[in-house]
Amino acid sequence: MNFNDIKNTADEYFMPTYARFNTAIVSGQGATLQDSDGKEYIDFTAGIAVNSLGYAHEGWVKAVSSQAGKLQHISNLYYNPVQTDLAAELCRKSGFDRIFFANSGAEANECAIKLARKYSFDRYGEGRGTIVSLVNSFHGRTLATVTATGQAEYHQYFHPFPEGFRYTPTNDIEALEKALDSSVCALFIEIIQGEGGVLPIDSAFVEAARALCTEQDILLVCDEVQTGIGRTGKFFAWEHYGQKPDIVTTAKGLGNCLPIGACLCEEEFGRVLTPGTHGSTFGGNPIICAGALEVLRFLDDNKLYEIKAKGEYIKEKLEKFEGVDSVRGMGMMLGVKLKTIPAKEVVAQCIENGLLILTAKDCLRLLPPLVITFDEIDQGLAILERVLALKSNGEAVEKQ
Ligand SMILES: *Cc1c(COP(=O)(O)O)cnc(C)c1O
Repeated sequence: MNFNDIKNTADEYFMPTYARFNTAIVSGQGATLQDSDGKEYIDFTAGIAVNSLGYAHEGWVKAVSSQAGKLQHISNLYYNPVQTDLAAELCRKSGFDRIFFANSGAEANECAIKLARKYSFDRYGEGRGTIVSLVNSFHGRTLATVTATGQAEYHQYFHPFPEGFRYTPTNDIEALEKALDSSVCALFIEIIQGEGGVLPIDSAFVEAARALCTEQDILLVCDEVQTGIGRTGKFFAWEHYGQKPDIVTTAKGLGNCLPIGACLCEEEFGRVLTPGTHGSTFGGNPIICAGALEVLRFLDDNKLYEIKAKGEYIKEKLEKFEGVDSVRGMGMMLGVKLKTIPAKEVVAQCIENGLLILTAKDCLRLLPPLVITFDEIDQGLAILERVLALKSNGEAVEKQ
């Protein structure tokens, strides 16, 4: 199929839930992709922070193929060694004690919501089921997690939304004190609001949140679906602040291409969800776990250091580009505020010129594969620099 066939067929059959760009990606290697016309792209998106090891990573391909030829799926009614290895390794690397495997970020958050509510119910009975989340947050698209998402634009059409959710402004400690009343069982935060515009949270706010939650036996849940698994240069982004949450949820980068979500918690909360209270048919599928183990094998301290270094390298270059106002974020999760040019136009021009890059709200967002080489970084940045310079000067960008 050539591009037009793919596009026309897709437009005929899919529910139009995605505003897609005019390219059909067919293969990739490292951080370089190829479309249906053979055109190459440098990838600064990693499938939205998913492809940590980029494309066709040798160890990952081997691990997944070998597991696919051995045991493909087995019900969670039985033990299996691959899933067990991943659980133990994730707990060891993160410093948490118990884990539940789901299939996506939203589902990992659903698990955290259920855990927090049951923990509170078991100890205090009814009337303490409220989940507090932050204004401008993003926690997923299931009915509960879209309700937990603190953005009004998501709270349309699908009424009635589940009850028991409340929002408080990010970095406002006084408002947080008021929001955390006796009806609350959990506070959800993101260390860097990803979909919200790559906005790192204040450390004073995290500190206050940790103290208030501990005081009132409210579970502090850190949604690390986007920031987790090395993305920011630490295994989990909360480590930058030193305030350990009670629960961490993660997904995107752990899967490195395959769908997985995980909810990790401290031992104290580790036995709240019992047989019959939660579960998942596909959660912790052995093929996916074999791939995820490869991601963890890759992420040693050296690699975390490298991710930080690559991020700093990119940030330093970006800050000097024409049209750039400021760069924020940590590690290889970066947001670029532009002076005047709309980010969406830049993204479209970059695609024309062989670079995939994202937006978040009104800024550009970079989430390259963690394995991206400096050569690929330079190639991608050169395209971005050129597009920004020409757009800043109001010139049409000609395809090279
Ligand atoms: C992407 C994302 C989610 C939702 O993950 P899905 O896998 O799409 O369900 C939840 N929280 C955060 C912070 C995310 O970035």
